[in-house]
Amino acid sequence: MSHEILKALGLTGEQSGTYLGNGEWSKTTHAGTLQPLNPATNEVIGTVHASSAADYEIIVKRAQEAFKVWRTTPAPQRGEAVRLCGEALRKHKDALGSLVALEMGKIKPEGDGEVQEMIDIADFAVGQSRMLYGYTMHSERPGHRMYEQYQPLGVIGIISAFNFPVAVWAWNAMLAAICGDICIWKPSPKTPLSAIAAMKICNEALKDGGFPDLFFLFNDAGTELSQAFVDDHRIPLISFTGSTKVGRHVGERVAKRMGRSLLELGGNNAIIVDESADLKLAIPAIVFGAVGTAGQRCTTTRRLFVHESIIDDVTNTLVAAYKQVEGKIGDPTLATTLMGPLNSKEAVTAYLAAVEKAKTSGGTVRTGGAALADRKGNFVLPTIVTGLKNSDDVVQTETFAPILYVMPFKTVDEAIELQNSVPQGLSSSIFTQNLKVTEQYLSAAGSDCGIANVNIGTSGAEIGGAFGGEKETGGGRESGSDAWKVYMRRQTNTINYSDALPLAQGIKFDL
Ligand code: NAD
Repeated sequence: MSHEILKALGLTGEQSGTYLGNGEWSKTTHAGTLQPLNPATNEVIGTVHASSAADYEIIVKRAQEAFKVWRTTPAPQRGEAVRLCGEALRKHKDALGSLVALEMGKIKPEGDGEVQEMIDIADFAVGQSRMLYGYTMHSERPGHRMYEQYQPLGVIGIISAFNFPVAVWAWNAMLAAICGDICIWKPSPKTPLSAIAAMKICNEALKDGGFPDLFFLFNDAGTELSQAFVDDHRIPLISFTGSTKVGRHVGERVAKRMGRSLLELGGNNAIIVDESADLKLAIPAIVFGAVGTAGQRCTTTRRLFVHESIIDDVTNTLVAAYKQVEGKIGDPTLATTLMGPLNSKEAVTAYLAAVEKAKTSGGTVRTGGAALADRKGNFVLPTIVTGLKNSDDVVQTETFAPILYVMPFKTVDEAIELQNSVPQGLSSSIFTQNLKVTEQYLSAAGSDCGIANVNIGTSGAEIGGAFGGEKETGGGRESGSDAWKVYMRRQTNTINYSDALPLAQGIKFDL
């Protein structure tokens, strides 16, 4: 099975993890290897040769050369390059979606959905390539014109997490490309094959279209090269997606060299269900949000606040729904599966530790709470815990697994306060039919998250909106809206077309 999936994408069981540009993949074999495992079986899918420091140097130099050409290519032409990538991804959607499912462990429709996100951002970026607008201003000085423009930034670094092995790259790379930048990507060591496949698809499309290299790739067997990447003055922007722990370190290092960072870190997302909520909408949104991708989305629903008058009903309905999901846990590449495995054995250990901690903190496991030890893969049961307080340590922490903490509230003020009382600030949502409650939730005194929804869950995001979160989620925004601006440098220009030189503050030099 895994052999067929790799073959459909032109990959073999042994791959170079380094794209050097000029159609060349590195022959380095001495810098260590990555061996991604199939999370459903823990069998090795393939071997990827990691990159050496010399490979990295070649990449940066070639990327810098490519930037000199790309930055002056008209933006709509840059859009055409991205359009070709989107078309190529459309053709390979099924195969790449299957590889994402195989290597990351998300179910096949989610794997395909991830590729669709790449296509959507490519489409978005094509349009954006004709809309890199700056303002014009009226100068206070006669005979002067003032405006601002956005210029390409340079060679951009992208470091991505395992749970969205290809979409996160595309969110960054497609926009960076239309902005005139060149991208160097360091993917997760858990999903290097998906990254290699995505690179091959896009780079072939660029080559066929007569475009230069825009996308480079290296893989790191440890963290030494990644660290050098983060500290590299030649990379003006590091876009990092991953845990808050590593992101904090990356953000500090980039700030130290006065670089720019875009941080997309952990979430601890909540749904509030008020007394008026339409439970026909709320229940499926909660189940999908908490159980989808086996709880391994940054936007996964981890906390649920339910009005005390309906909490018993809601919890019982959820427990029954979870039992149905239990029957459909399995191989993520099969169409019948609703929930796949966790990505790694370490993730199972972290899940079990969180369940234990929840119990010792006074929580009651209403359903789930165990790993499926009879299987080879990293399968766990989706879990609901009641009886904990929002302030409990385990509730405050993002455990990257399908554990939902259900807690009661009396007033909407209290629910919003509880929702916001965590270090993270990514996604949030409320289910209500009350207009006043809706407006309160979306007001300045409402949700403090980067994403706040009404009558739709926390997980998933549409390409049109800027994606990201506040507080320890890192503050970055990518993908939609005006997220393109982070990939460009902003410049204010004043042109004097008069015969005078009016100086600021009316100062006159008798020269
Ligand atoms: P992680 O932090 O372990 O790894 C992320 C990336 O950082 C990997 O590529 C890793 O190799 C790299 N890395 C590790 N040490 C490094 C170092 N010293 N210098 C530079 N790079 C280094 O995260 P993960 O387990 O792959 O992903 C899960 C986490 O990512 C969760 O916390 C999740 O919420 C978060 N995430 C956030 C978003 C978002 O948009 N906010 C999206 C996806 C995932």
